[in-house]
Amino acid sequence: MALYEGPVQALIDELGRLPGVGPKSAQRIAFHLLRVDPVDARRLASAIVDAKERVTWCRQCFNISEGELCAICRDERRETRSLCVVEEPRDIVAIERTGEFRGRYHVLQGAISPIEGVGPEQLRIKELLARIEQDGVDEIILATNPNIEGEATAMYLARLLKPLGMLVTRIASGLPVGGDLEYADEVTLGRAFEGRRDVERERG
Ligand SMILES: [Zn+2]
Repeated sequence: MALYEGPVQALIDELGRLPGVGPKSAQRIAFHLLRVDPVDARRLASAIVDAKERVTWCRQCFNISEGELCAICRDERRETRSLCVVEEPRDIVAIERTGEFRGRYHVLQGAISPIEGVGPEQLRIKELLARIEQDGVDEIILATNPNIEGEATAMYLARLLKPLGMLVTRIASGLPVGGDLEYADEVTLGRAFEGRRDVERERG
């Protein structure tokens, strides 16, 4: 039910579509924006437009990127034989903060979730396989989130990649179960990275 006049209600509706913003917060933010200096409101609006216009997906790893290739894929000092698979670009930021990894990344852009109707074909797995062959990758580190979807995705990938003859490791437990990588502090995540284990050995 629309409670306010046109543009105000439109703003509340748009804000309410954002993740983690309920109807009450949407209303509070909308009224905050109506009160702020027009310059500040315009800066927020153009930051959104700018980001949408200038940022795309890296054609190699599907990280966010301002050009064809992201900063990590452009960096020739990064090892190409070691590939860390993550769910989202923000996981790369979390792992980079630990300073434990000098290889490259591959962003799946999600995780397998039957409940939300996300299967392997919706993720960047085809592209991952093509890359592995092309770059001569010999270690894959599965750094999906330590929750049900992340574990299911890691297991699916391990089953797919193991027969190709490379080392497939999973970051160690010790991360809060059910949590997201991005919320882990860098010491915990750094340890999880160091303590990564061969997937087959762990399960067998
Ligand atoms: Zn990239």
